[in-house]
Amino acid sequence: MKNINLLGATGSIGVQTIDIIRNHPEEFKLTAVSGGRNIDGIRAILKEFKPELVSVLNREDAERLKSEFQDVTILSGNEGLIETAVYHKGDVVVNAVMGSVGLIPTMKAMEAGKSIALANKETLVTAGHIVMAASKKYETPILPVDSEHSAIFQALQGEQSKNIERLIITASGGSFRDKTRSELTNVTVEDALNHPNWSMGSKITIDSATMMNKGLEVIEAHWLFDLPYEQIDVLLHQESIIHSMVEFHDSSVIAQLGTPDMRVPIQYALTYPDRLPLIEAKRLSLADAATLHFKKMDFDRFPCLQYAYEAGKTGGTMPTVLNAANEAAVGLFLERKIPFLTIESLIEQAMERHKPIENPGLETIQEVDQDTRKYIESLY
Ligand code: NDP
Ligand code: MG
Repeated sequence: MKNINLLGATGSIGVQTIDIIRNHPEEFKLTAVSGGRNIDGIRAILKEFKPELVSVLNREDAERLKSEFQDVTILSGNEGLIETAVYHKGDVVVNAVMGSVGLIPTMKAMEAGKSIALANKETLVTAGHIVMAASKKYETPILPVDSEHSAIFQALQGEQSKNIERLIITASGGSFRDKTRSELTNVTVEDALNHPNWSMGSKITIDSATMMNKGLEVIEAHWLFDLPYEQIDVLLHQESIIHSMVEFHDSSVIAQLGTPDMRVPIQYALTYPDRLPLIEAKRLSLADAATLHFKKMDFDRFPCLQYAYEAGKTGGTMPTVLNAANEAAVGLFLERKIPFLTIESLIEQAMERHKPIENPGLETIQEVDQDTRKYIESLY
């Protein structure tokens, strides 16, 4: 039996994690959960799973829940999020919050000796050097939930990293993969949120449309698998059936395949090195799929991917700026304050103005993160 502290329980990954826990009551118990503003979602989780500790974003919501659920510890804000992560009964922390707010809870959970099932890619993008060092120091594994990284992790079982030629991260192309750049000028929030293959939270769906999601994943892969950017490639593959691949020095390529269902990588992160049946899994039929398509990545069409490689190679605080500018710009787009293509120009602007600081500590990272958000928001 594994006890789970789940951060971001009301989100897309959170709900799918809950589904896995529901389907395997002998294997998993939900000990602590956090949500943001979706209080009805948290209420339903409290009733069904009776976790011992709960945290939500706002204090007023926490007060209201306290009067309804008197035998549960109910907290709020960033402190509550951290308390959820370190709750003493949890063995594994599933970090499925959105954005760089996930960084400190991940660090604290590792210090408390918990293994991490990591969906929150922003954590590794902004502080990969610190997070990976902490994982070594506290001997707390970080198991990837992101489907591409789970695929690579699975392909690497029994392999040695010295034999890797390159990682090939596949990209569906997002909502606008069939549009030219000039056709992107007037696209709406609704168009951007309409992802062809995956149903996900709104921020990551926009990131998929700009290709920033793939950029963040390249940086995430750099840290998780300890490889230079020159050995990490991106390949367009519109069906999202091959979730990523590893090529070895002898030219052999190992891929992981499946229908697009995030419960597979979430569950693998929870059961590794074991596997469990996946309830109501849609099995892959290659005969039905018949044809898989691949296309070379076009960096002019998707400049965000180019910015991510540049930020990653520059290192220091530059990936923090990339990520914070992106979070702020996507927020503005979702609030309908800027057009779609302005997302990428704001990121470029924020990176141009920043003088990177080498080997930053957590405090510097948080300062740069805040400063970048303020800069972007001050423009509107
Ligand atoms: P969602 O937006 O669906 O969910 C985010 C969760 O975080 C919700 O529970 C939300 O609460 C909570 N949250 C948001 N802001 C805060 C905050 N400031 N403090 C505390 N909690 C907060 O996101 P996804 O599930 O799509 O994504 C989560 C993470 O996983 C992201 O980092 C994403 O990149 C990554 N990921 C997601 C994939 C997917 O398929 N969705 C695939 C691979 C990676 P509430 O809703 O209650 O307000
Ligand atoms: Mg992914």
